[in-house]
Amino acid sequence: MSGHEQSGAAPLFRQMTVVGIGLIGGSLALAAKQAGAVQTVVGVGRSEGSRAVARACGLVDRVAEDLASGVPGADLVVLAVPVREIVRLLPEVARLAEPGCVVTDVGSVKGPIVAAGDAAFPDGRFVASHPIAGKEQAGPAAARADLFHGANWILTPGPQTRPDLGEKVAALCAAVGARVRRMDAAWHDEVFATVSHLPHLVAYALMDGVLATERGGERLRFSAGGLRDFTRVAGSDPVMWRDIFLMNREPVLKALAGYQDALARLAAAIRDGDGAALEARLLQARVAREELANRS
Ligand code: NAP
Repeated sequence: MSGHEQSGAAPLFRQMTVVGIGLIGGSLALAAKQAGAVQTVVGVGRSEGSRAVARACGLVDRVAEDLASGVPGADLVVLAVPVREIVRLLPEVARLAEPGCVVTDVGSVKGPIVAAGDAAFPDGRFVASHPIAGKEQAGPAAARADLFHGANWILTPGPQTRPDLGEKVAALCAAVGARVRRMDAAWHDEVFATVSHLPHLVAYALMDGVLATERGGERLRFSAGGLRDFTRVAGSDPVMWRDIFLMNREPVLKALAGYQDALARLAAAIRDGDGAALEARLLQARVAREELANRS
């Protein structure tokens, strides 16, 4: 029995409709149901393949083929599709959702989604959110009920978001085992450009750079754990990351410029044969990395 059920509390929502039954949407569907935080889960799946997996894995109580058959009747809609799709779908969700329905999302970029959500729901029913949990595997077959255990889940309410509905979404996040944090959307996008979007971009770039060297494919056959560990996140879905980089363009470019400066400092020390400067920078980075490892 889950924490929410053990507390004897009634479900927070009667019907949660998850649009996009992939890794995050499918995991939330499983976790919220197991926690007793929602009574019924409906999943809107785009492809027959995803719908079939969602059915076979029992991720949802009912599978719907489109928004028109999945959104009416819900008192919570969760948009769990790639970030550009979230912005595109919000007006249609607003047209189909019942008057009391709360709408949230799980997108990795927040500024443009908060703006689109506030425009679609001027009555404050949109609560933007971002779970800091995931893995390289995508799609419904990768969904796990414990994906959010101990993870941060960030809420970035917009200027219009109703505080009581923000609390209700926060209660759902807590029910699935996450730690709820609140952040301003612009600051969220700056922070995650640095600690998440940049590492993904650099991992993709490193693979790209190695491949582009003379006889790159042959060199790759000799790679060991270093390259594999460093580029693990380059195994993530290219469509999802294309949309994140494009939607968070300015903060990502700013983070990239900072990284290029860091590379230039290292290159200068190597070019000048300045071992002391090089060692000092490597040491500083190692200490920061050790602190990171200890924290997690
Ligand atoms: P995913 O496993 O690829 O799932 C996305 C799902 O969206 C797919 O099942 C896809 O359907 C579906 N989809 C796309 N367009 C759709 C539409 N118009 N209508 C209905 N379904 C549609 O990706 P994910 O990792 O769950 O990512 C989903 C969201 O979570 C993204 O916004 C991402 O930024 C965010 N997020 C991801 C992570 C992570 O580490 N993966 C972490 C935090 C937040 P098909 O299978 O039929 O193509």
